[in-house]
Amino acid sequence: MSLGTGRPIVAIPGPSPTPERVLAAMHRPSPDIYAAELGEVNRKLMDGLKRLAGTRANVAPYIGNGHAAWQAANANLFSRGDRALVIASGHFGRSWAEYTRAQGVDVDVLDFGEAPPDANRLADRLSQDRDGRITAVMVCQTDTASSAVADIPALRAAMGDHPALLVVDAIASLGCSPMFMDEWGVDVLISASQKGLMSVPGTCFVWFSDRAARRGRTDNFAPYWDWTIRANATELWQFWGGTAPVQQVFGLTEALAMLEKEGLEAVWARHARLARATWAAFDAWGAKGGADGARIAMNVADPDRRAHSVTAARVPGADALRAWLSREAGVVLGVGLGAADPANALRVAHMGHLNTATHLGVLASMDAGMQALDLPHGPGAVEAAVQVIALENVSKLA
Ligand SMILES: *Cc1c(COP(=O)(O)O)cnc(C)c1O
Repeated sequence: MSLGTGRPIVAIPGPSPTPERVLAAMHRPSPDIYAAELGEVNRKLMDGLKRLAGTRANVAPYIGNGHAAWQAANANLFSRGDRALVIASGHFGRSWAEYTRAQGVDVDVLDFGEAPPDANRLADRLSQDRDGRITAVMVCQTDTASSAVADIPALRAAMGDHPALLVVDAIASLGCSPMFMDEWGVDVLISASQKGLMSVPGTCFVWFSDRAARRGRTDNFAPYWDWTIRANATELWQFWGGTAPVQQVFGLTEALAMLEKEGLEAVWARHARLARATWAAFDAWGAKGGADGARIAMNVADPDRRAHSVTAARVPGADALRAWLSREAGVVLGVGLGAADPANALRVAHMGHLNTATHLGVLASMDAGMQALDLPHGPGAVEAAVQVIALENVSKLA
């Protein structure tokens, strides 16, 4: 017998659950891509994407996943031999640095391990760059592997009057937590369709400031990645570098409509609340360790620097727990990507199209699995999560 039958809950940090409304919006044959109607839908989508990022500047859409967006941004940003500084707080930051290095860029890494970045260390590092050779500072707002969050305004402030552009990967945070690209002084922002944007994988976006646009062409330039054509497009094919991914344009339009109807502030508050419920559960589980002293612990100690979209944690017996959850609860959790001991680490996603019932189901199922497998854990986790949902004052979470 298995109790895992029924609608599965895939709580991995991307792709996130796709709303039925988004799937339904995509379920259509390709229309005439030369007709005015689709062009208008696409133009409105670009406006919506700018509102989502908090910018009045430029957005270039691409067919591709988050890695394609990295390459697209790099092709527009760097000539061979340029110097960049990547601030890394986990697997994604380090992997972004490798990608950029492979494109011929001289990349320095300010590596914080799996911990959130310290703005003071950025200020120190840039103060050593007296001749201003670093042309870009790159950072993940949320490193999805460690669930560490970078304080973007603090990092921008630490850059002072250094001329480098600030490039932010918001693939795991846009649509989950605040982003005010213009207000925060972000020059280049990167995201993709399948996490906070609640759509299927396959499209990605690079927003860029006028300051970034003025840097002009690089010798890594490749016409397909040129953000100028896409951001200044008038014809549909120019936006997408060829045939538009029409079904995705309709799906994304529906997803953005859902986010705007709920209201971005409310969307962020919902993510904050579900994140806090998750942390309350982890705090309770971690209160009691095993005989060998091993205990459950979230990766990021400081709640202010924890992601609202995913929680990475050390969980003794994580592999067995994930297998139990999949078999007996229909719940799939993420693996401990980049963790020191992956068999005893996992990630719980709480991003995108998610509500109380689904998420308490995940946390309660985890508790059941820990009990069934006799894994070391403290009691009261479900009650602690329930209390965050039931009792916390909504207004203070906005
Ligand atoms: C998911 C993710 C990526 C990679 O995106 P893909 O769509 O898998 O290529 C890069 N950076 C961050 C922060 C992510 O969360």
